[in-house]
Amino acid sequence: MKDIFMLQQADIFQAGITICSRCIYDSRVASIVFDEDGVCNYCHQIDKLKEDYGTGTEKGRLLFESILKDIKEAGRNNKYDCVIGVSGGTDSSYLVWLAKEWGLRPLAVHYDNTWNSAIATMNIQRVLSKLDVDLYTHVVNNKEADDIFKSFFKAGVAEIEASTDLGFAYVLRKAAAKYSIKHILEGHSFIEEGLTPLGKNYFDGRYIQAIHQQFGTQPLETYPLMTFRRFVTSAVFDRVKFIRPLWYIDYSKQKAQDFLRSNFGWKYYGGHHLENRMTAFLHGIYAPQKFKMDFRNNTLAACVRNGVMTREQAWADYNKPPVIEDELLDYFKKRLDISDDLYEQIMSAPPRSWDEYPTYKKRFERLRLFFSVLAKLNLVPMSFYLKYCFPVKET
Ligand SMILES: [Zn+2]
Repeated sequence: MKDIFMLQQADIFQAGITICSRCIYDSRVASIVFDEDGVCNYCHQIDKLKEDYGTGTEKGRLLFESILKDIKEAGRNNKYDCVIGVSGGTDSSYLVWLAKEWGLRPLAVHYDNTWNSAIATMNIQRVLSKLDVDLYTHVVNNKEADDIFKSFFKAGVAEIEASTDLGFAYVLRKAAAKYSIKHILEGHSFIEEGLTPLGKNYFDGRYIQAIHQQFGTQPLETYPLMTFRRFVTSAVFDRVKFIRPLWYIDYSKQKAQDFLRSNFGWKYYGGHHLENRMTAFLHGIYAPQKFKMDFRNNTLAACVRNGVMTREQAWADYNKPPVIEDELLDYFKKRLDISDDLYEQIMSAPPRSWDEYPTYKKRFERLRLFFSVLAKLNLVPMSFYLKYCFPVKET
């Protein structure tokens, strides 16, 4: 192991790439800077969050206890007291179980972009039926979903999954508003996943609309588009709070998986967020081949930071090619009706960046103070504020 690491270190040195002395983020990561000890700004960001949220400590326990009290109080006269977004993946499945343990009455919400793997659908069903939790699903018309995906592919930008992530966020807000629920719980853990660096990774409603208008062919009728107006209206008037319980408590993805497997017959889908075929295409093929981006470093760096993996092991794993399902590429081309020629043409064209298209980014930056207040009140996710309301550093 040491030899591989040393060899790669030498190659890296030749290529003029610096690696964080604590995690495995390197100078190719967007907006990265290193301190005098060679520690990257993302490691410091995680330390700061850990301190602020008291993750896994008495401080975190007390903070979260008071949040739980608020959730129960706000939902006292309601059928449900919180919304939980579920994907069939580890974190969200486990969070549903935790919520029941905490005495909450969750409504599970799923945004179905019609590219789910069968395992994801089965996982959701198994966990929810055993825990007797209702499910609210928004299924987008598959032709529409595909038209947006194809538009992003043709636009040559990296955020091919933007419509899923933003659509999901809006469906969570819509479900909460519909049932007068005041809290949305999200199964995100910065300890296990880190925070995705900003740079080659950005999306908002304006961006989705602009790209779809330019490259799409179908009208958007069932896609839940989160416009600026809808976003702010939901935050200010519905006053739904976004809570990430795993930011406060001691959480281990591995233990959660073991627990889910033995108690619910839940199945692992073979990789980080690979419970969906479009996600699998993005992570395994599109991002690494067209953008030389490999999102595995987020999880791997997190594993190093929390001591689950050595830096050497993580670096070695990061440098192995991603595992790709045999049928995945054919499925992608066939579903989106993309010929081999068109596929090759787009994959070999120079990558385009999100800032070449219209977005709300400048507006978010101008309103930074407003959003900092909303983020502190949990009315918009803190990660939104940290990532979207500041200018991107040139790298
Ligand atoms: Zn680092």
